[in-house]
Amino acid sequence: MVEADDCIFCRVTRGKLPAYILYKDDHVVAFHDINPQAPVHILVVPAKHIPDLEAIGSEESDIVCRMFQAAAKVAADLRIASNGYRLVLNNGRSAGQLVPHLHLHMLSGRKFGWPPG
Ligand code: AMP
Ligand code: ZN
Repeated sequence: MVEADDCIFCRVTRGKLPAYILYKDDHVVAFHDINPQAPVHILVVPAKHIPDLEAIGSEESDIVCRMFQAAAKVAADLRIASNGYRLVLNNGRSAGQLVPHLHLHMLSGRKFGWPPG
């Protein structure tokens, strides 16, 4: 298992790795994805190292809600809420999760297909 010190997103949330941060509180951090797949591509991550949804226990029960609230706040700040945006959570290897620290992808600024690729 990846330890928090070796985790890219823990390093970002602790300020040890530079990122373009759009939102930060004690629980959640949102920053620009380094390899954007849309004109707007933001990652919303918990400050705490949580590998995936399976690691959400009673102590983390409010984290997922806080992540969605932060996404909505960033959308309002960037004025993309009215046009719409897509939230993606790749959970596990076959879903395409490469970074084992829970994160929401927030995508906007172009049309998105359905079903997703
Ligand atoms: P996933 O494949 O769902 O685990 O997504 C991981 C995302 O993290 C990818 O979209 C990467 O481009 C992004 N990423 C990796 N390293 C960084 C970094 N240092 N700063 C910002 N985004 C990153
Ligand atoms: Zn982490």
